Amino acid sequence: MAVRKIITLGNPILRQKAQPVSKITKAEQQLIDDMFETMEENEGVGLAAPQVAVPKRIFVAKWEGETYALVNPVIEWRSDDLVSGMEGCLSIPRVQAEVNRHLKIRVKALDRNGNKVIIEPEGWLARIFQHEIDHLDGILIIDRSDDLYWVVTEVDEDGKERTRLIPTTKSAIIAAFQKRKTPVRR
Ligand code: ZN
Repeated sequence: MAVRKIITLGNPILRQKAQPVSKITKAEQQLIDDMFETMEENEGVGLAAPQVAVPKRIFVAKWEGETYALVNPVIEWRSDDLVSGMEGCLSIPRVQAEVNRHLKIRVKALDRNGNKVIIEPEGWLARIFQHEIDHLDGILIIDRSDDLYWVVTEVDEDGKERTRLIPTTKSAIIAAFQKRKTPVRR
């Protein structure tokens, strides 16, 4: 098992439509195991394969002690009710977005062993699934929301850390990540 590198906003792989997995081989199972390890290492609750630079339709999630590894997930049904919630993304560090998601969905997929599964997540788990399935279509939280924030951590006089949310825009976020990637000219 190995922790893989998580790519960030500006890397074109995050914007590609990921390819369906035609056969689950040892390579896909190794990828899934590595994705779990990478997610845990980064204290995430979900991770999609494109985030580790593999454009395949696979994601993993961990919520309330349960783990999920889904291959070729398809949302078959969505509840009419939408709920709003604050989301972060390991590929867009220090950014949060208030995103509307369907309260409940039904997802058809294959598990790590290629068995067909149907899952009906609700609430936060449904939110995680929708966030990760978006990744497989090249969609990010900054595309889903106009309520975007930089997360700024400040240390006050007592040495206590406080986080503050500073409103921002999609273009400002894209520009900031672009700048960070620009190589230094000699
Ligand atoms: Zn994400």
